[in-house]
Amino acid sequence: MKIVVLPGDGIGPETMAVAVDVLETVSARFGLGITLDHDVAGHASMEQYGATVRPELLDKVKAADALMLGPASAYEYPNQINASKHFRKGLDLYANIRPARTYAGMDHRFGEFDLVVVRENTEGFYADRNMESGGSEILVTRDVAISMRRITRVCCERIARSAFELAMTRRKHVTIVHKASVLKICDGMFVDVCREVAKDYPEVVVDDVIVDAMMALVVRHPQRYDVIVTTNMFGDILSDLTSELSGSIGLGGSLNAGADAAMGQAAHGSAPDIAGQDIANPFSQVLSAAQLLGWYGQKQNDARFLQASKAIDEAVAAGIAAGEATRDVSGRLGTKATGAALVKRLQQA
Ligand code: ATP
Repeated sequence: MKIVVLPGDGIGPETMAVAVDVLETVSARFGLGITLDHDVAGHASMEQYGATVRPELLDKVKAADALMLGPASAYEYPNQINASKHFRKGLDLYANIRPARTYAGMDHRFGEFDLVVVRENTEGFYADRNMESGGSEILVTRDVAISMRRITRVCCERIARSAFELAMTRRKHVTIVHKASVLKICDGMFVDVCREVAKDYPEVVVDDVIVDAMMALVVRHPQRYDVIVTTNMFGDILSDLTSELSGSIGLGGSLNAGADAAMGQAAHGSAPDIAGQDIANPFSQVLSAAQLLGWYGQKQNDARFLQASKAIDEAVAAGIAAGEATRDVSGRLGTKATGAALVKRLQQA
């Protein structure tokens, strides 16, 4: 399995270094033959090449089996390519799978839970991915701005199918999150298509919740949810909330998957407020690596990758229970020491 590694910005280099150690460890331990191709995107690329993403990088990633991408400080270079968008759109990674679960050894203020947010990744309110040319935000006059949101039947259908397929491997419950009460056409279509797809999965229980109500309901009873399917921006916001509810945004792993390609990338941003301090939680990027190996194992029908993926999940859980984790998850270690403890645990797995 050949993986291109782009550490990205902010805490990215610190958390990706741990994810890389973990990938190398499980590759040796489970005989996976993983090859890592280290390259740069974001600030490091700006410094070296004068652009956040070099044009040839997309082809390089297409020629590999998968990508591990760190966060992008897109705010800081508004006129440059946002690496996250570039690969999501360029590789058509339409399904952003963001699990959130509680772990033993941590305080569960909201009770124990285990859910997954399935977020559409290629259209919606994201102005940089809706148009053939230009963005979908318009400055009409200096004081008037319009933002357009694109929703297509084909994208609704494929994200719905991802959610229902996932639900079939879990507790068989899908919750559609939307704002069809106000966005009657766009979210009306999203809900209709999800309900249409649901007919192919009669064993799955389906309900739907308005996005604002969901913010209260998921805090009140996160254990009521299994798979939550939603549009791009709602999913981005909701998944930050669910990872924080699980104990820390630093536990938010995520897989960006398309028909043939996939990218592991932590759900959170570049966290510039804590960058370079050896305090960032690396588990989000590590859990993203585990998801990526799980995706590849399924695609190739190769049990070794599935075993490695599970071993990483279990080692993270054991690390948290033992306090071999960063402070945001009640641990007592820095980023590097958390990574070293995790690697040691995986070597013995
Ligand atoms: P960006 O502009 O790149 O989205 P941000 O700081 O606006 O960055 P996040 O990076 O998502 O947004 O960070 C939100 C909060 O969560 C910050 O206080 C940050 O320090 C914290 N945070 C994010 N990732 C981690 C992590 N891996 N470990 C610990 N704290 C984190």
